[in-house]
Amino acid sequence: MPEVDGARLLRDLEDLARIGKQANGGLRRPGFGPEVAEAAARVAGWMREAGMTAGCDAWGNAIGLLPGAGGGAPVCVGSHLDTVPDGGRYDGAMGVLAGIAVARALGPGRLRRPLAVVGFADEEGNAFGVGCLASRIYVGEDVGPARARVRAALDARGDGGLPRVELPRPAAYLELHLEQGPVLDRDGDLVAAVDAIAGIDRADASFLGEANHAGTTPMDARRDALCGAAAWVLAVRDLAAGSGGRAVATVGTAVVHPGATNVIPGRVDLRLEVRAPEAGALAEVGAACEAAAHRVAAARGLAATVGGWHRTVPVALDRALVGDVRSALGDCGLGDRVLPSWAGHDAKVMAGAGVPAAMVFAATRGGRSHCPEESVADEAVAAAAAVLLRAVERADARLG
Ligand SMILES: [Zn+2]
Repeated sequence: MPEVDGARLLRDLEDLARIGKQANGGLRRPGFGPEVAEAAARVAGWMREAGMTAGCDAWGNAIGLLPGAGGGAPVCVGSHLDTVPDGGRYDGAMGVLAGIAVARALGPGRLRRPLAVVGFADEEGNAFGVGCLASRIYVGEDVGPARARVRAALDARGDGGLPRVELPRPAAYLELHLEQGPVLDRDGDLVAAVDAIAGIDRADASFLGEANHAGTTPMDARRDALCGAAAWVLAVRDLAAGSGGRAVATVGTAVVHPGATNVIPGRVDLRLEVRAPEAGALAEVGAACEAAAHRVAAARGLAATVGGWHRTVPVALDRALVGDVRSALGDCGLGDRVLPSWAGHDAKVMAGAGVPAAMVFAATRGGRSHCPEESVADEAVAAAAAVLLRAVERADARLG
């Protein structure tokens, strides 16, 4: 039975982490940038070594194709090669390199279908302001003016001389990623299957009171917009906490007007974000937060507005493919842990475009990610890659 070479995978992770490395130990590989091109060239070399046809597509995504014994649409594994500023070495890279480790373990002709490995050139969305930009462009989503901006940046950058390889539409997409949260680490689990990816709803909220002199206006004669906003922020926290783990909510920005020490705040503009892996909980908590704004404002003689909702729906991952991952966990003696993802991933874009998708999560030490301290235990990296291999074999067998 083919087995993943965990030691080699760890070496590859260390090697790739040299590209874009900063003095503080963090990585900087902005989406579609030259460091991503360098990373794509590096992984394409490893793909070829594993027996794959390798290069990049017209958008700089690293692609490797391993022939199967039969034909058909490939089973695709992968993640992304870019990082946030001062990001960690596991986010994205681990999924791409684990995919190559799977290809290396299998070799050509072992599966019935071809195996594809993809390293998307921009997932974090910092460079062009759109998250999962490379996979969105790949599936043909309308990304507005970002598409032309990326094209211009790539034309200026060049493709690093890699041969052109296109990713055919996959029959299944499996993404290994670190959890980026504390749950698995806290519970002592190394690996989990992911069955859903949270939807994210965002809205603008304003609290309107009356700006006035901060000295001469008695405390009982004030309409302080910031006091209302503060009460609402706490109400939002309580509403999400009261959802029993079904949703999280955050007020992440607040701008106080006029914003002077000696003026009672007349207006505060805030931005609300609600996330939930299930549509009912997302709508329920969002509506409750909106109602709470009006209630809190009314109780304080203020006015509140909540609007401009921007909604992205939660995505349930493919039941059969999630089943393959859960069976693979069993094959590896790693239990049967299933989690939703509270962060967005390329798997969500693929699933949204109708590609059956699922994810494998590896425990994240201390739940820390998007920082130089980001870490996954060696044992968890190897275990997650072993699960990915078995899940690929199971999906290939099931899809026929
Ligand atoms: Zn990521």
